Amino acid sequence: MSSNRPADTDFDFTSIQAYAGYFKKSYKLFSCASGGAATAISECFIKNGGIVFGACYTDDFKGACFGCARTIEELEKFRSSKYINTEKKIYDDGKWVSVFSAIENALNNGQKVLFIGLGCDVGALLKTLDSHNVNHDALFTIDLICHGPTYAEVQKQYIEQLESKFNSKVTSFSVRYKKKGWEPPYVHAEFSNGQVFEELFYESDFGFAFKKYSRIACQNCQFKGENHVADMTVGDYWGCTKGMECYNPNGVSVLLVKTDKGKNMVEELKTSTEFQLYQADTEYAVRNNSNYYLRREFDMKTHRQFDEDFKKNGLHHAVVNSECYGRYKKLMRKERIKRFIPAKAVRFMKRIKSKLKHS
Ligand SMILES: Cc1cc2nc3c(=O)[nH]c(=O)nc-3n(C[C@H](O)[C@H](O)[C@H](O)COP(=O)(O)OP(=O)(O)OC[C@H]3O[C@@H](n4cnc5c(N)ncnc54)[C@H](O)[C@@H]3O)c2cc1C
Ligand code: SF4
Repeated sequence: MSSNRPADTDFDFTSIQAYAGYFKKSYKLFSCASGGAATAISECFIKNGGIVFGACYTDDFKGACFGCARTIEELEKFRSSKYINTEKKIYDDGKWVSVFSAIENALNNGQKVLFIGLGCDVGALLKTLDSHNVNHDALFTIDLICHGPTYAEVQKQYIEQLESKFNSKVTSFSVRYKKKGWEPPYVHAEFSNGQVFEELFYESDFGFAFKKYSRIACQNCQFKGENHVADMTVGDYWGCTKGMECYNPNGVSVLLVKTDKGKNMVEELKTSTEFQLYQADTEYAVRNNSNYYLRREFDMKTHRQFDEDFKKNGLHHAVVNSECYGRYKKLMRKERIKRFIPAKAVRFMKRIKSKLKHS
């Protein structure tokens, strides 16, 4: 099973152009997952006469599906990451229909369409259109660098836990809330009774499930490395650190452009006065984001045990009784302490550690 690791000598970095960037206005940057590239490109696309299909939460925040935006205001529901599996359906004209059929209709009606989803979403869309002999010259696609989502049932139970705790309905929800900037991500929920709840994402039951209980099919992801089929891939520019020209403490997107349509979207983005765009080093960007090219490897024993407990006793029980919960909590505590240590001191400690190891 090839994992398309860029360490393989045949990985052709010259076939991809990398960019980095972020929204200049902080109110926009704060509402997006990383630098807001997906939203900024969508805005340009709509301004140039197209329509955009993207992922949004269902009205009760217990699941995620797709939506279609024809105006810039309608793009708001797509902002930020939903870390769960989406249903490939869209609510249109009073009924639920397949998002792929909705896109097929739009293309057949001569519309210019941008679809943003995970790699396998884009793959499934292209496969469906080809099997129906649909001309997709007017279709532009973006996929996200993908760690693999957890199951929608996790979010459903997490929202229900919160609603029961606060005795109120959730009216707004994010798992990438930038309370202190890009990192660390917080869960942020607002309730109809005016209360607000926040916790560190990776210290939450949801965060644990995202890390340890991803969709099992992702072990065999067919859309990594050179097998990304979208025109462009967008993700967090994790390689971008303090001191680099393109750094922004409130989030930076990486854009990995593969096709002429991808280049076209970048050209449109260059005309935006709202988005700060930089050229980036492809090899550096890719090597610093392993989920672009590596499939997840699961600890199947943990996954199976969690799955059984989750289905029988619910999310919280499955998390606190998971075999690796103690180790995970320790690691999270370490991460929390590390955030208070200046980056210079961390680098110094790493150098000392490495010297000791090699002496
Ligand atoms: C499950 C999942 C795992 C991810 N793993 C990684 C990773 O390992 N490394 C990394 O660098 N980046 C990862 N990302 C991508 C990252 O979280 C950001 O979504 C990406 O950087 C885009 O940020 P942005 O600011 O440009 O997007 P925004 O401007 O905030 O827009 C968000 C876009 O993401 C789309 N979207 C959100 N959730 C979903 C979903 N569940 N399915 C399909 N489309 C969705 C929306 O349609 C929207 O277009 C992941 C995203 C998801 C959903
Ligand atoms: S890891 Fe691959 S298979 Fe899993 S959701 Fe992401 S793109 Fe799809």
